[in-house]
Amino acid sequence: MPAPVSKSPVFHCRQCGECCQGKGGILPSPVERGLIALYLKIPLSVLIRDYLEETPLGLAVKNKPEGGCIFQVGTRCRIHPVKPRICRDWPFLPAILLHEEEFAAAKTACAGLEPNSSHTDFLTFWQTKVI
Ligand code: SF4
Ligand code: SF4
Repeated sequence: MPAPVSKSPVFHCRQCGECCQGKGGILPSPVERGLIALYLKIPLSVLIRDYLEETPLGLAVKNKPEGGCIFQVGTRCRIHPVKPRICRDWPFLPAILLHEEEFAAAKTACAGLEPNSSHTDFLTFWQTKVI
């Protein structure tokens, strides 16, 4: 009997750093802001002044002048152990889990998502991660 064909994992992060190149949208919660300030060993007021900015949706992480998240160094995250929830959850975000078209868009943006995987594959993979 032939060996089963091994299927690529639906998601395997390539650490390319592309997902940190977006413009805005990273809104750390008050607890996350406190943790980031503690991790960076700076007062909360300095974190807010130097790394965050007011937006209509609340305090968001700034981008570098040349683009990309202010906490990105090369392809790495300077605050990795305390990065905001949305960064830890990507690409398993509610919109991508709920909407096939959002998953299709995410596949074009994230090199870690297997291009041939279906939305059903993605959901099954996510369920094995969270359950
Ligand atoms: S874009 Fe995808 S593969 Fe690249 S670092 Fe982000 S999660 Fe990993
Ligand atoms: S906080 Fe870290 S993981 Fe989140 S966007 Fe910035 S560099 Fe990327």
